[in-house]
Amino acid sequence: MTQVQVFEFNPFAENTYIVYDDSGQCVIFDPGCYTAAERRTLQDFVETNQLEVVRLINTHCHLDHVFGNNFVCKTWSLLPELHRGELPLLERYPATCMLYGIPDVEPSPMPKHFLEPGTQLKFGNTKLEILFTPGHSPASLSFYCHDAEFLIAGDVLFLESIGRTDLPGGNHNQLLESIRTQLFTLPGETLVYPGHGPETTIRHEMEYNPFL
Ligand SMILES: [Zn+2]
Ligand SMILES: [Zn+2]
Repeated sequence: MTQVQVFEFNPFAENTYIVYDDSGQCVIFDPGCYTAAERRTLQDFVETNQLEVVRLINTHCHLDHVFGNNFVCKTWSLLPELHRGELPLLERYPATCMLYGIPDVEPSPMPKHFLEPGTQLKFGNTKLEILFTPGHSPASLSFYCHDAEFLIAGDVLFLESIGRTDLPGGNHNQLLESIRTQLFTLPGETLVYPGHGPETTIRHEMEYNPFL
C-alpha cells in the first residue's frame, strides 16, 4: 500500500511529503527543509523506515518548496524533476531568496530531464498520474494516485482556499480552470495533500471552497 508522510518545514509552513510503499522505495515531494534540524527530521524518517529515496519531485519551484533540494540531491545522489516551465523559477531561486531577505541559500542542482503531464510517475509498486495544473505558478504539476486515492496538490488547492496568483507567472483564471478540469474531475473521496495546511478531499472542496 502506498503511504504518505507529511512534514511542515520552513518559515512559510510548507508541507514536504514522502510517498512510500512496501517496496521500501520512496519519493520526496517539495523538500522545504531549511534548517539543519529540519533536514535531520527528513533524513531520520528515511533511515528509521529503511527507505530508499529514488526521486526528488518539485510540484513547482517557489522558494519554500525547494529549500531542501540541494540537501536531498547531495544526500541521496539525485537530481530534481519538475515541469520544464518551472526551470526559470528554479534558476532565479537564490536571487528570489535575496529579495525575501533570506541569506546563504545553496542553489538547487538543475534537472537533467523533465516531467511530462499525461504520463505516469512510477516507483516501487506505486504509480501517480502527472497532471498539469498551472495558475499559481507557470507550470505547476499535481500527482494523483488512483490506487491509494490521494493527490499531491502543491499550492494549487488548499482546504477551503486556493493558491495565490499575485506572484510572477500567476494567473487566477488559469488556476480556476486547472482546478475545475484537472482536480474536480477526480473521485470525490480523493484525499488532497496540499502544499500548506491540513488535508482535505475533492468532495469537500467542491462543496465548500468559496473560490470555486
Ligand atoms: Zn507556491
Ligand atoms: Zn508554497
